[in-house]
Amino acid sequence: MKISVSDIKPEGSEVKCQISNEIIGKTEVLEFIEPVKVIAKVERIDEEVIAETVVSGRYSAVCSRCLEEFEQLWEKNFLIGIEIDRRTEYIDLGEEIRQEVILNLPTKVLCDKDCKGLCPNCGKNLNNEKCKCSSMS
Ligand SMILES: [Zn+2]
Ligand SMILES: [Zn+2]
Repeated sequence: MKISVSDIKPEGSEVKCQISNEIIGKTEVLEFIEPVKVIAKVERIDEEVIAETVVSGRYSAVCSRCLEEFEQLWEKNFLIGIEIDRRTEYIDLGEEIRQEVILNLPTKVLCDKDCKGLCPNCGKNLNNEKCKCSSMS
């Protein structure tokens, strides 16, 4: 996502792009299943380019509680600042965004905030069925 500094309008420019999910890579708990969409409002302020960025994409993840696989839409806003000088012709927002995305991805995900998880006794997924363990205790 290269942006020519001279193309940035005085009032700011809006740029859109997609980052391939393969470039983002995967973490221990999730993996994007489609390209990540980026909308950025780019503004030049003296020796800096500021990008107000909205990133969204759908990922496949493994629930930290019940270990079921599920898909979820993820969206996040970032404010990215890139320092430039007089000779800077292009900035590469893509790499900056990729780093922000990786830093901000959750390390634990739940299929549902009320996910009941697995029974610690028999290992059954309590979202799908009731086991007899709880009635005994
Ligand atoms: Zn779950
Ligand atoms: Zn049980």
